[in-house]
Amino acid sequence: MIVKPGESLERKKMTNSRLEVTNEKAQNGQSLILMKSESFNNIMSYLSESFGKPGLSMIYSMGHDSGAKEVKQIREEMKKIEKPLQKKDLVEKALQRMSQMGWGRFDLQELDQITGNVEVKIKNNPFSDSCAMNDTCGCLFLHGYISGIMTESLEAEIGCASPRCIDLDDSQCIIRLMREPK
Ligand SMILES: [Zn+2]
Repeated sequence: MIVKPGESLERKKMTNSRLEVTNEKAQNGQSLILMKSESFNNIMSYLSESFGKPGLSMIYSMGHDSGAKEVKQIREEMKKIEKPLQKKDLVEKALQRMSQMGWGRFDLQELDQITGNVEVKIKNNPFSDSCAMNDTCGCLFLHGYISGIMTESLEAEIGCASPRCIDLDDSQCIIRLMREPK
């Protein structure tokens, strides 16, 4: 299997026997690293087990930071081709990129720019096994990532006091965020 830049990983089932990755660059000029979701979750669990609650905050913050960076990157790219995006389009594009990178499929269910209420449904969530549990490490990272996307796109602090996804069946969960008090 060859993964080309910008191609969706989730549609191609990865098998250990035939995994070939080109060293071409992804959309933003970075090399792609492929990692099993389990390995990623293990790293996140390590943080949570070693540092407890601060570890969980770290996971959320790392996601938040990455999400915000992604939006900044998209904004810069669009500026170069003189196609500035509206806030909602920025959100949609950032979520689409996450999907393309294999983090799951993200459906924007609600985006209220006035109240800051946001709801995103994640389908094919690679971390769905842990969604039902309290310390959903991988999904907590996604939670932070989405809050970073929203905060940067909507230019308002969008987050969640106690981040926890709503677990649904079939590898799906829902993430709800809102405007955070200053
Ligand atoms: Zn989840």
